[in-house]
Amino acid sequence: MSTNSSSAGDVRRVAFIGLGNMGGPMAANLAKAGHVLSAFDLSRSACDQAAAAGLEIAASAAKAVADAEVVISMLPASRHVEGLYLGSDGQPGLLPGIRPGSLVIDCSTIAPATSRRVALAAAQQGLSMIDAPVSGGTAGAAGATLTFMIGGEEEALTRARPLLEAMGKNLFHAGAAGAGQAAKICNNMLLGILMIGTSEALALGLANGLDPKVLSEIMRRSSGGNWALEKYNPLPGVMEGVPASRNYAGGFGTDLMLKDLGLAMESALATGAATPLGSLARNFYALHSAEGSGALDFSSIIGRFHHAQN
Ligand code: NAD
Repeated sequence: MSTNSSSAGDVRRVAFIGLGNMGGPMAANLAKAGHVLSAFDLSRSACDQAAAAGLEIAASAAKAVADAEVVISMLPASRHVEGLYLGSDGQPGLLPGIRPGSLVIDCSTIAPATSRRVALAAAQQGLSMIDAPVSGGTAGAAGATLTFMIGGEEEALTRARPLLEAMGKNLFHAGAAGAGQAAKICNNMLLGILMIGTSEALALGLANGLDPKVLSEIMRRSSGGNWALEKYNPLPGVMEGVPASRNYAGGFGTDLMLKDLGLAMESALATGAATPLGSLARNFYALHSAEGSGALDFSSIIGRFHHAQN
């Protein structure tokens, strides 16, 4: 570990932009660890929820970052991150308003090329930036057990480490700027595929009259065991506290999964990699979204195989 590593006890002034399903609880964990936060979201209700959790809300993103040593963003997609930092529709971006020498950590899942573009612009303003997309879902965000996949310079990661450790428990340095995003895209392509496969297998079992809890447990402890069966069963009534047990509200939206599979397809086209199941999975989620389920958690994809209410 390099010598300029911050000690875990260091208090940082942090601007946190994007207080949705993931960003809200992540910001709350940073505040709980003693950091001084100034938070912002374009959505009034996200701000109200974060304020109710004790966070100080800034009047704008520019105001949130004005005094910050570290800026963290957790936004939906590439265009939001690019718009925030570089500007859009004639509006200036945030980068020039961030104090030189500060650290920028983008935790959103976006295109690796966008991450690289924003990191380059940040470097030109005298800022260090890492991409640090996460895995672990809203439960991981709430419980500070997220996995971070990091792209960028070692020195920036060393500075970010105490903050990331307040929000998660596994940190992987995947490589240079954009590498965290590339790793995240591979992981989420697999997740999208395995949720469909798990749903298909559960629906087949139900069609054969099997008890969903018994079948889930058999597969969880057998060679079909996977993360969905461990932590995120898509069938209502099998597991407590997962989106399936609350009509697929909250969690990881179908439209976000669709975005991630789109990123995987772009990346496959750019590299010539074959991703037949990823392509099929993207089409499944696209149909699911087009038929009105875009805002539901992605595990609602099981509804295409089995209707829970029937
Ligand atoms: P979300 O839609 O719940 O939250 C995103 C928030 O960003 C919203 O509250 C929105 O108002 C805000 N926002 C958008 N543009 C903004 C701007 N310019 N300034 C300020 N706020 C802005 O999404 P989420 O579920 O929290 O996901 C965030 C990111 O994390 C996505 O890239 C997603 O793919 C990724 N992710 C999500 C999960 C999950 O389980 N939900 C898991 C891993 C990774």
